[in-house]
Amino acid sequence: MPELPEVETTLRGIAPHVVGQKVTGIVIRQPRLRWPITVGFAEAAAGRRLVNASRRGKYLLLDFGNGHALIHLGMSGSLRIVKTDEPPSFHDHFDLVFGKLALRYCDPRRFGCLLWIEEKPELHKLLVDLGPEPLTDTFTADYLYARTRKRSQAVKQFIMDSKIVVGVGNIYANESLFMAGIKPTRKAGTLTRKNCEDLVRDIKFVLQRSIDQGGTTLRDFVGGDGKPGYFKQELLVYGRGGEPCNLCKKPLKEVRINDRTTVYCVDCQR
Ligand SMILES: [Zn+2]
Repeated sequence: MPELPEVETTLRGIAPHVVGQKVTGIVIRQPRLRWPITVGFAEAAAGRRLVNASRRGKYLLLDFGNGHALIHLGMSGSLRIVKTDEPPSFHDHFDLVFGKLALRYCDPRRFGCLLWIEEKPELHKLLVDLGPEPLTDTFTADYLYARTRKRSQAVKQFIMDSKIVVGVGNIYANESLFMAGIKPTRKAGTLTRKNCEDLVRDIKFVLQRSIDQGGTTLRDFVGGDGKPGYFKQELLVYGRGGEPCNLCKKPLKEVRINDRTTVYCVDCQR
């Protein structure tokens, strides 16, 4: 599944090709994604210049001045830049055409979306409840400490809640909790101030490292420039259940929390 680093990598891959360019055509081959592509999308965006491209959580926002395209990659979506005359494949559901180049959306499982929104993006129902961006100064140890008080939820599930902080997907939750030495099953409310400092630091670290390396390598993911990410080779615990801990060499334990695979070291994480 594309996570925050993959979406950020996609943004950085596509933005230089399309920001400042004018939409010369819109091709919708399959409007039935997770939600139908907004009726009237093509009319609203046609002929408009793309003013800016940005990301909020795992959503991409394309600002056309008169409204925004809100794009989510769902479970298996990808956006890439293609030459306009490149024939589409079966899963290429829409193109935003910018002269000789097109921004092409491919999504075999069709859990993504393309919506046209005219309100302020931060007020849209999909974005209004989102917590802070993990890589900004709004996500601090003070913030996390305050939010964890009296919370009995497992800390791993807690940090994966997009209302608390956006973009900490399963892989990044596993990795950052290992680096911070915190057991994923521990109640969020038991974190100390020091734990919160470590965890915030390590969440930022794993996300930033993944972005620097072009997103995590997953089966379906390619960045906006068509190159796969390379992060997976460096994972410390995710996908390593039963293998030796890098620190103490004891076998890593694998459990499920909120139905998500969770791997940790019973000795190094407390
Ligand atoms: Zn260990």
